[in-house]
Amino acid sequence: MKEYDIIVIGGGPAGLSAAIYTSRAGFSTLILDERDKLLEKVKHIENYFGFPEGISGAELLERGKRQAERFGTIVSYERALLVKISEEDYKIDTAEEEYRTKGLVISPGIQHQKPMVEGIEEFEGKGVSYCVTCDAPLFRGMKVGLIGSQDLVIKEAIELYEFTKDIIIFTDGRDLDASQILIEKLQEHKITVNKENIVKVVGGKELEGLELESGVERLDGVMVAEGTSGSLDFARSLGIPVEDDVLKVDEKQFTGLPRVYAAGDCTGGARQISAAVGEGAKAALGLIEELRGDEYKDWKHS
Ligand SMILES: Cc1cc2nc3c(=O)[nH]c(=O)nc-3n(C[C@H](O)[C@H](O)[C@H](O)COP(=O)(O)OP(=O)(O)OC[C@H]3O[C@@H](n4cnc5c(N)ncnc54)[C@H](O)[C@@H]3O)c2cc1C
Repeated sequence: MKEYDIIVIGGGPAGLSAAIYTSRAGFSTLILDERDKLLEKVKHIENYFGFPEGISGAELLERGKRQAERFGTIVSYERALLVKISEEDYKIDTAEEEYRTKGLVISPGIQHQKPMVEGIEEFEGKGVSYCVTCDAPLFRGMKVGLIGSQDLVIKEAIELYEFTKDIIIFTDGRDLDASQILIEKLQEHKITVNKENIVKVVGGKELEGLELESGVERLDGVMVAEGTSGSLDFARSLGIPVEDDVLKVDEKQFTGLPRVYAAGDCTGGARQISAAVGEGAKAALGLIEELRGDEYKDWKHS
């Protein structure tokens, strides 16, 4: 497991700005970032301070990355899949690696739309869950279906496997689109994958299973692991409050969880580059202040 003082999820304007501050202040900082970003495709940004002729999204991001790297930030092109509280620290899983950190900045932008299955909301809390880390112990020894088709669903299945071996992954008509390492782990664990379309969730007072094209599959629980791995998923697994689909933070970008800050589009607001950059800076300053407090004295710098 690799350790950094601070991990930033998302290398857009908010995350890069935060990392410039944290690495410049001497904290080892890792940015986990997905390669594919909308801002990179924007040809001409005219309203960002300091560029009177305008600048392309790709160039602005590249300059921000170079600036963060100059102070020691490491940028790794990996998608953060899961974030968990682990004793006093935070653990972050990607498809390839496990990381541990003391401080976290969540800045993955706006979450993409999740495909929803009919009836799923009706059974939330009655057998349908979105958080394996939180709810897996409730399904000990039971038959559980996991809905998803990407890396996250496999990670969640392997975590759930410690509590029950009776697991089926339902891709809802999609092919499994996951990294080779995770597909191999799935095969090692002999977890079944069902690629049929899901018609709806069935049940009465409690969930009874999933109706598929071929009939009903009886299940004790259904967990949604759609692999968006966006801010709302991280909020759910950490217990950060969400309001109107954005993470609730205070004026310092603090989420209420020790040493966890959020910045940029995922916290709502202006949804502009300048706002994201400002929030990233505020998040970093708050985190630096917290880490420099007494609580930090036992943490060893990596
Ligand atoms: C087409 C378009 C044009 C725009 N034009 C302008 C403009 O002219 N001026 C302006 O001010 N604003 C503009 N915006 C808005 C601006 O792009 C956003 O407000 C800004 O990029 C938000 O920054 P952010 O860092 O919060 O999020 P983002 O820029 O979205 O960056 C988030 C990063 O996190 C990554 N990520 C997501 N999930 C994960 C994960 N699980 N693990 C690791 N990484 C992850 C994403 O791939 C992305 O790289 C435009 C937006 C779009 C879509």
